[in-house]
Amino acid sequence: MSIDTLIALCDYMPPADHNLIRQAHAFASMHHANQTRHSGDPYTVHLEQVAIILAKLHQHPTIIVASLLHDILEDTTCTDAAIQEGFGDTVLALVKGVTKLARINFPSSSEQQAENFRRLFMAMANDIRVIIIKLADRLHNMRTIHHLRPDKQRRIAKETLEIYAPLAHRLGMGSIKWELEDGAFSVLHRDDFVHIKSLISEKRHEREAIVDTMCQTVRDLMHEAGIEADVSGRPKHFYSIYKKIKVNKIEFSQLFDLYGIRIITDTVSHCYHILGMIHTNYKPVEGRIKDYIALPKSNMYQSLHTTVIGSKGHRIEIQIRTQEMHTVAEHGIAAHWMYKQKKKVSKNAMDLVWLNHILEESPDQFIENLKSNLYNDDVFIFTPKGDVIALPKGATILDAAFKIHTDVGLRFKAGIVNGRIVPIQYVLVNGDQIDIHQRRNPQPNLGWLDIVTTRFAKAKIKSFFKRQDAELRLHLGETTFKKILLKYGFIQTKKQDIAPFLERIQAKTNYRSPADIFIAISNKELSDDLVVKACKDDPLDVTDFLHKSSAKRMDRPLILVDGETDIETHIAQCCQPLPGDPILGYITRGFGVAIHHRHCRTVLKHKDMSRMTAASWTYHHQDVYATDIELTVIDRPHLLKDILQELSASRINISKAATTLYKNGRAKIFLTCDIGQLDEYIHIKQRLLRFEDIVDIRRNSSVGES
Ligand code: MN
Repeated sequence: MSIDTLIALCDYMPPADHNLIRQAHAFASMHHANQTRHSGDPYTVHLEQVAIILAKLHQHPTIIVASLLHDILEDTTCTDAAIQEGFGDTVLALVKGVTKLARINFPSSSEQQAENFRRLFMAMANDIRVIIIKLADRLHNMRTIHHLRPDKQRRIAKETLEIYAPLAHRLGMGSIKWELEDGAFSVLHRDDFVHIKSLISEKRHEREAIVDTMCQTVRDLMHEAGIEADVSGRPKHFYSIYKKIKVNKIEFSQLFDLYGIRIITDTVSHCYHILGMIHTNYKPVEGRIKDYIALPKSNMYQSLHTTVIGSKGHRIEIQIRTQEMHTVAEHGIAAHWMYKQKKKVSKNAMDLVWLNHILEESPDQFIENLKSNLYNDDVFIFTPKGDVIALPKGATILDAAFKIHTDVGLRFKAGIVNGRIVPIQYVLVNGDQIDIHQRRNPQPNLGWLDIVTTRFAKAKIKSFFKRQDAELRLHLGETTFKKILLKYGFIQTKKQDIAPFLERIQAKTNYRSPADIFIAISNKELSDDLVVKACKDDPLDVTDFLHKSSAKRMDRPLILVDGETDIETHIAQCCQPLPGDPILGYITRGFGVAIHHRHCRTVLKHKDMSRMTAASWTYHHQDVYATDIELTVIDRPHLLKDILQELSASRINISKAATTLYKNGRAKIFLTCDIGQLDEYIHIKQRLLRFEDIVDIRRNSSVGES
């Protein structure tokens, strides 16, 4: 029965093309022999019905043939080669396209996810004809959905509502969209569906009476004006009623106050003429007049819309459009492939406003344009959770990791695509199922900047390194700051509060936060001297006692080495002997003779006795020597200050001061004093030892003095 029905519906194409369709039908019947559907029908019934849906849309023979073969690769042993041999490359490509889509599993998910699935779908189809066949396939599946298990019905209905109906809408295929939506709605919301349906039939007579009266009045108006127009009541779609109720939170009864009329005429100017006549005779509702002729919707839809108040106070929605616009409204993109030899679809049906007037491109260019808009140069991949994400073409697995989550990107260890480990540079292709192995901690490297292609991932990698660098410098600056505070005696322990000093610096400088100060210190923008000066507060501040050493370090103290004065000598820094100290000379390799304290442990322990030589001070002189002194103290507040004050009173310059605190309450204070000779040191030592808090005073740890 059905092949003849199909052929009869193909009367819009030349009879020669019928043979090809018969061949395709026989080919499919042979391969699908003995297969049945859940309804018990032979499988070929499904193929015929899908082809019939497309024939009713006056689709090209190639599409009809491909639709008859659309399940052959998935469900039978038929090969690509057999299809190519029998029906050519185009048919094979279309069948393969549909097969590829059949293999995608769409888990139901959020609206954003659904949108990505739709885009993936478009991208994978790569040919809008594939989607047209797929939509027809889905339409027939929805018509026969009640043969399936309830859970399967729900899954397919949901997928239809989330993916297929919106796709049909986007492609302007209104009639398929409505039917898909109503079919899915009847499965997913059975009670609401039944309720709306019964309300519609209850009110049918009333509604028909109102609509019919209106239609007749409008027809009379058209007749008077001499305009040819087809005026009819407009069917309401269950799902759109349901959505209106849900979205607007209105009662069913209110909704049924809305009636619809459609007027189809011959020319655009008549459309506007009719609109004017209607507004002359009925009061239009404000804000309800829409001119989609001048401004078509993105899916090519064109029409004039208005809502008027009818004779009995009902609101009536009116659509006015030409026959061509109506065809596009119903069939959208499919109208483009309508078989052109058929008279019923005039040349004008192709002459769509969006083609020539807006884009000024040939139809083929338009389709290309539409495709690239739809595909958006994106690649769509599946995440481990089954979500689809879109990335720009050329994106790598590393980009995908960053797209999933910044953390996943930063901790990227290895990428897995379709079950196999891939190199980090792997370029993604549509439909890839990816997984990312992660490290425990972020471990990006700068080379990644050459691997990622997305701005987002690049920014994340850069900001990671910036942040890391900043953290490092912040830490370094803080440590340095504490060291300075310790060194100059502002604080005695590292755990002491440094906030007051930060406040002082902030008050005296342009740095507005501790972080600013730390970073400036680590950058050497804020020198130690500057920090010290800024930290000073009250006049008795310890820094008042600190001066740049005025000691003139004697590179060549006047020393007799083995009775000679002409020998190059220098003071050893391990023991820093002062004039008056017993000394000895040590002959170094290339640096003359080092003058050590005679009790210097370093020289006694480690040096070569054979290189030692006698040395003595020739006379006392007025130069001073930088001398390190180590004080063992019992720590208390202001001790360092008191010590420095005492030394100052003795006119001793201190060029450095630092404190190390020990857990037992003891502390060591390290001072660098400028001392002229041994007697001076002894004098200071005696004065300082009067402090109860000072337990011990030593000149230099390497001098074994008693
Ligand atoms: Mn199918």
